[in-house]
Amino acid sequence: MDIHTRAVHIVNDPPGEATRSGGHPLSVPIVQSSAFAFDSADALADAMADPDGPYVYSRRGNPTVRALERTLAGLEGGASALAFASGMGAISGVFLALLRPGDHVLAQRCLYGGTYAVLSDLAARYGIEVEYLAGDDRAEFERLVRPGRTRLLHLETIANPTGHVPDLPGLLAAARRHGVTSVVDNSLASPVLCRPVEHGADIVVHSTTKYLAGHSDVLGGAAVFADDGLRRAIWPRTVELGAAADPFAAWLTLRGLPTLPLRMRQHCVNAGLLARRLAEHPAVRAVHWPWLAGHPSYDVARKVLSGGGGMVSFELAGGRAEGRAFIENVRVARLALSLGGVETLVAHPASTSHRELDERALAAAGIGTGLVRVSAGIEDGEDLWRDIAQALDAARGAAAHSTSDTAAYLD
Ligand code: PLP
Repeated sequence: MDIHTRAVHIVNDPPGEATRSGGHPLSVPIVQSSAFAFDSADALADAMADPDGPYVYSRRGNPTVRALERTLAGLEGGASALAFASGMGAISGVFLALLRPGDHVLAQRCLYGGTYAVLSDLAARYGIEVEYLAGDDRAEFERLVRPGRTRLLHLETIANPTGHVPDLPGLLAAARRHGVTSVVDNSLASPVLCRPVEHGADIVVHSTTKYLAGHSDVLGGAAVFADDGLRRAIWPRTVELGAAADPFAAWLTLRGLPTLPLRMRQHCVNAGLLARRLAEHPAVRAVHWPWLAGHPSYDVARKVLSGGGGMVSFELAGGRAEGRAFIENVRVARLALSLGGVETLVAHPASTSHRELDERALAAAGIGTGLVRVSAGIEDGEDLWRDIAQALDAARGAAAHSTSDTAAYLD
């Protein structure tokens, strides 16, 4: 069935018992219990060993969280999933569960700053070697892979904030051929625009905080597994890590999912409108949106994604001072550090989400220090454009009077 139908109906498959009248609740019940009582000591002990056995303790599994895990696995076309307290919980959990000292990791050069920070930390403190690739062609992977040592390949379907789209089919096939476990962060595309498992990914990670939950009211993360054996193998370690999803957070995420396909459509329409208008605006030097002709990933993005995504980033001709003035002058959009919610947000990645990258790493990833990121919400596109256009005008005026102080802000 189409994703619009599946998003509505696989969510409404609540676990648990029928109500007394024999009816089932349409909404998943929130089982807000840390622990579950047993009548038999043996049954309790047996349940501890099985990720799919009876519920024991909510860090190990919970019915509401399990409903979210099943739903996300279904939407991504995976076999199973684990939900986490945040996207970073999912990413750190997967890395820590899979990697050992001496392992070699290949990761996409332009990737979320928090992921870059975890990889840098693993490299500095645990003897794990990390190398970065552009991810545009399979030959680069074949050149860098170290047979027997490369354990993991980490990619982002749409990279935050440049909109870079790696060659998923080529890279994932190459990883499989070399026995390298592939992890794809699909937070910015969501399963509506791309399902990396269909291209050969072993694990798909999400910041469910973003499009999946979609309303800027909850933190969450998830890892979806193409093969359930991998989930069962890493489950004991993720239980030890303790970044489990809370039942209410899982419920809020489930609450967002039926409208995900509708929201993604509007995010993409608005982002496309903004990208095209920004590209024609004299104050704008460069626009990054993967479905905009001329974007370096355009050809791959048209093949791999069914929409250009909701994030647009751009560089102002007036550089940092103008960038600062712009993000402070939007009126409909808000200046806030997230993306994927129903409201349009603007941010400055180099000083916030990507501050872990030094100047060289930023340049290598294609992130200018004056780059501004817009997460297009689901508002009316013309209202958004009027707001962006007036902020661009205000920025030009303000930047003309800027001091060295304001220029330093965006360093
Ligand atoms: N992955 C991507 C692509 C992100 O943009 C983010 C957050 O911005 C994360 C992971 C981390 O997610 P969370 O903030 O839910 O920990």
